[in-house]
Amino acid sequence: MLTGDQTLFRPSAEKRRILLVEDEMINQAILEAYLEQDYEVIVAPTGAEALEVIRTQYETISLVLLDLILPDIHGLELLKQIKADSRSLHLPVIVMTADSGAEVESLTLGAIDFIPKPYPQQKVVLARIRRTIEFSEDRDTLSLTERDRLTGLYNRDFFYRYAIQLDAHHKEFPTDAIVLDINHFHSINERYGKAYGDAVLRRLAGWLFSRMEREGGIACRSRADTFLVYCPHHEDYSLWIEELSDSLDSGETGKGHIRLRMGVYPNVDKTLDAERRFDRAKLAANTVRGSGSKTVGLYDHALYEKELLSEQLIEDFPAAIREGQFQVYYQPKYNIRTEEPQLQSAEALVRWKHPSLGMISPGLFIPLFEESGLIQTLDRYVWAAAAAQIRRWKDDFGIALPVSVNVSRVDLYDPQLRDCLRDIIEKNGLAFDELLLEITESAYTENSQQLVDEVKQLRAMGFRIEMDDFGSGYSSLSMLSTLPIDILKLDIQFIRSAFEGSRDTRLIDAVLRLAGVFGLPVVAEGVETAEQVATLRALGCDVVQGYYFSRPLPAGEFEHLIAKRKEREDPASAG
Ligand code: C2E
Ligand code: CA
Repeated sequence: MLTGDQTLFRPSAEKRRILLVEDEMINQAILEAYLEQDYEVIVAPTGAEALEVIRTQYETISLVLLDLILPDIHGLELLKQIKADSRSLHLPVIVMTADSGAEVESLTLGAIDFIPKPYPQQKVVLARIRRTIEFSEDRDTLSLTERDRLTGLYNRDFFYRYAIQLDAHHKEFPTDAIVLDINHFHSINERYGKAYGDAVLRRLAGWLFSRMEREGGIACRSRADTFLVYCPHHEDYSLWIEELSDSLDSGETGKGHIRLRMGVYPNVDKTLDAERRFDRAKLAANTVRGSGSKTVGLYDHALYEKELLSEQLIEDFPAAIREGQFQVYYQPKYNIRTEEPQLQSAEALVRWKHPSLGMISPGLFIPLFEESGLIQTLDRYVWAAAAAQIRRWKDDFGIALPVSVNVSRVDLYDPQLRDCLRDIIEKNGLAFDELLLEITESAYTENSQQLVDEVKQLRAMGFRIEMDDFGSGYSSLSMLSTLPIDILKLDIQFIRSAFEGSRDTRLIDAVLRLAGVFGLPVVAEGVETAEQVATLRALGCDVVQGYYFSRPLPAGEFEHLIAKRKEREDPASAG
């Protein structure tokens, strides 16, 4: 049988704990006498002891009563430290002071109320304390849903909601949308451990929170290491970055050199929805990616134009597919191991003949379509066109000329990919090795086993795989022995840097040798001069693609190259 009053087993029935930070015995005694009936009081006579109690017991303390004159540090400094740590920043602090001038400053620093000294009557003190605790607990209940647990900042949904509320009250007020994140946070976590990573996030959050308390504005952690800030307009944010970096470089987070990246969309257009404003800040942040000294990117007119263009291209996409505005060009690849270079295969490269913008190069729209998912539709269109073209050339010239198509990383995640490619091959009566698949190196280095498995399956079906842009990413030469590939395609940059200025082909030489060890044929891309062809041939390169032989051509023009090969192989049959 249960004994005792079970109604006591409720949080609301427990005695709340109050931390009393006060060094003078007489004051301690008065307050303890006032409070002991209703509260459990922990006394800390110095700032250091107070911080220790807060650090270890912040979850169970309901209120801090803070005397401003302490033996070790000033009470206001202590208040600042409480508010700078995201674990304790929601602790309500009542400041006790005889100096009425300190009241305003305490409130600005985040104190919730103050009690004058000498103390007022007991019932006044008790009433203030009860009201403060009730208020803060109501707020905490709400906080559980609206705040990010790790940092105590708002979560994204509430953040957007509050941003809109701020607008409602400050329509004309110039406001900035900011995205802030940490460079290579992922590797910081890996190097120093998750607890350290969490401490960094909390510290950053604490800094943002106190900044917002002082200057107005709100902040949230939108995910992992990305923070959003919505605040009154500033001309220059470099000082923020400086102060934040200083703060992160000291104390428990000081061991890893942490670098920040910030994107600002200044004076936001308040007719845009909140998410759009932060998309713009994000665009601005992306402009400083990887750039050494510049850490703040601004959303400006150029970015605006770019965004408009992106929007237009995405909007125009369905009509472009319907109306056949995409055209597939073919760039020849020549075998240079034979005495006379010989046309061996081609790469299909897409172009967009836009009705109002003219010819658009894929460098502009492919990354955009990869981001927005449209790439799958476009790639299927290109693959189907290329396969139909192989068929036609086969029929017209009696030559099986393999064509390679580009397969985006996004395509590799599509569970229907294999079926789709099989359909295309079968529909055109081709063999699997007549349509080559170019897969960019970075897809492999993304380190996803799923991707590597998918490529293995494609190979098992009979497709041959070319690793595209080799050398542009971070794959090591040793990976070549384990990855599922049949042909290595050197990145264009390899040729550029080997032949510009003082000629240095040692790197190409090394890659060619290693590829030889693994039995991988090598295609060199971006070859523009006779000298480059001669050198590559001498170093043992098999196949060359580039302006030296030909730019990418429409199918009709490409046919002349096939006809020429045909003529050489079989002069008698040439009309
Ligand atoms: P990529 O696969 O590396 O294609 C080679 C690019 O280098 C092509 O640019 C080609 O025109 C260019 N190029 C060839 N030879 C030379 C040369 O000697 N000198 C110079 N300076 N450039 C040369 P393009 O056609 O603008 O394509 C750019 C990128 O767009 C391609 O790079 C590829 O990643 C992507 N792409 C093109 N078509 C498709 C497609 O149908 N699907 C997908 N997913 N991506 C595509
Ligand atoms: Ca390619």
